[in-house]
Amino acid sequence: MRRVAVLGATGSIGASALDVIARHPQSLRATVLAAGRNVDALLALCRTHRPEHAVIADDIGFPALRDGLRDAGLSTQAHAGDDALEALVAGDACDTVVAAIVGAAGLPSTLAAARAGKRILLANKESLVLAGELLMQAAHEAGATIVPVDSEHNAIFQCLPDAHAHAGLKRILLTASGGPFRGRRREELTGVTPEQAIAHPKWSMGPKISVDSATLMNKGLEVIEAHHLFGVDGDRIQVLVHPQSLVHSLVEFIDGSTLAQLGLPDMRTALAVGFGWPERMASGVGGLDLLAHGRLDFEPPDLAAFPCLRLAFEALAAGGTAPAVLNAANEVAVSAFLQRRIGFLAIPALVEDTLTALPPTPASSLAALRDADAQARRHAEQATTRASA
Ligand code: NAD
Ligand code: MG
Repeated sequence: MRRVAVLGATGSIGASALDVIARHPQSLRATVLAAGRNVDALLALCRTHRPEHAVIADDIGFPALRDGLRDAGLSTQAHAGDDALEALVAGDACDTVVAAIVGAAGLPSTLAAARAGKRILLANKESLVLAGELLMQAAHEAGATIVPVDSEHNAIFQCLPDAHAHAGLKRILLTASGGPFRGRRREELTGVTPEQAIAHPKWSMGPKISVDSATLMNKGLEVIEAHHLFGVDGDRIQVLVHPQSLVHSLVEFIDGSTLAQLGLPDMRTALAVGFGWPERMASGVGGLDLLAHGRLDFEPPDLAAFPCLRLAFEALAAGGTAPAVLNAANEVAVSAFLQRRIGFLAIPALVEDTLTALPPTPASSLAALRDADAQARRHAEQATTRASA
C-alpha cells in the first residue's frame, strides 16, 4: 500500500492524482491532503478521500478547517502552515508525495520530501527551475526517487529507463502544443485577454501554467526542468511545436534511433506511471487511436512572437541565480496579467527587464537562491506598478 500525500490537492493535478488513487483502493491511499487557501474545496476532498491529515497553507483558514472536519464527523487532523506541511511530508504519514503546488511556494515541501527519501511525483516544475541542483542532490543523497509527471518529462523518463540508455543519449526533443496563440505574430498579441490566454486548446490546467503555455514560458521552464532531471545542457534540448499534443516528447540516441512516448493529453497517465513505476497501472485514460487522429505535425517555435522561450534558454546558459530570477519575475508578471494590471506582451518585457537588472551570481546555497527570488519579485513588482501606472 502506497501512502500518498497530495500537495496542491484542490488543483488540476491534485484532482487527476486523486482520481487515479481512487481507482486503486487496494494499493493507493491518500493520507495527506494539502491546499493553499480554499478551505471548502479541501473539506469536500476530505469527505470523499478521508485522509489522516489535511493542511491549509493559510493560518487564517485553520479554525474553519478544524471545525469543518469535526462537523463532518471525520477523524482527519487539521494543520496549517509551511512547517506543519514539511513535517508531515518528511514523517511517517506518507511514503509518496505528489508535489503539485503551483509556483516557488512548492519548493520547501518538495525539498522536504527529497531530504526524507520519499518517492516524489514531481509536477511543481518551478521548484526545479529555482533550485534544481540542490533538489536533485538532496534526492540523490537521501535515495528519493523523483518521477517527473510533467507530461514531456514523464515521456522522456519512460524512454530513458536506465543508465545504459543515458550514456548513449544524444539530445532531447521537447514537444509543445504552441498554446492558444500558435501562429499569431507578435503584433497580433497586443490586446489578448486572460480569458483567451487560459483557454488552452489541448490541456485543462490551472491559470498560471495556462498563461505560461500561452507565452511559451512553460516550455522554457520545462527546458530548465529537463536539464536538471536528465543532466542535459540547453544546446542538447530542442523544442518542437506539435499542435496535436499526442507525442509527449522524444529522445534521440547516438546510433540514430529516436524513441517517443505517445498518448492522449490527460495527466492521469503520467501520474499512474509515477505511482506504479516500474510496474504499470490503469489510469482511466483510454488508448490512442492513431487512425482517428490521422496526422502528427511538427514546426519550429516562433521566438520573435514568444520571447519567453528564448529568455529561458538564456537564463539556463547564464546559470547561477538566473533561472531563479526568471521564474520569480515570471510569477509576478503572470499574476499581474491575470489581475489585468499589465498586458500580455508586458510579461516577457518584465522578465527580461528583471534579468537585466539582476545579473546572475553563483547559486551556492538555498539562502542565495531565496534571496535572488525575493529580489527578483521586488524588482518585478516595482516594474509592474510602473507598467500599469
Ligand atoms: P492549480 O492552480 O490548478 O492548483 C494549484 C494548487 O496549489 C491548488 O491546490 C492550490 O491550493 C495549491 N497552492 C497554491 N499555493 C499554495 C501554497 N502556498 N501552499 C500550499 N498549496 C498551495 O495548478 P495546476 O495546474 O494543478 O499545477 C500545479 C503544478 O503542476 C504547477 O507547478 C504546474 O506547472 C504543474 N503542472 C501542471 C500540469 C497540468 O496539467 N495542470 C501539467 C504539468 C505540470
Ligand atoms: Mg508540460
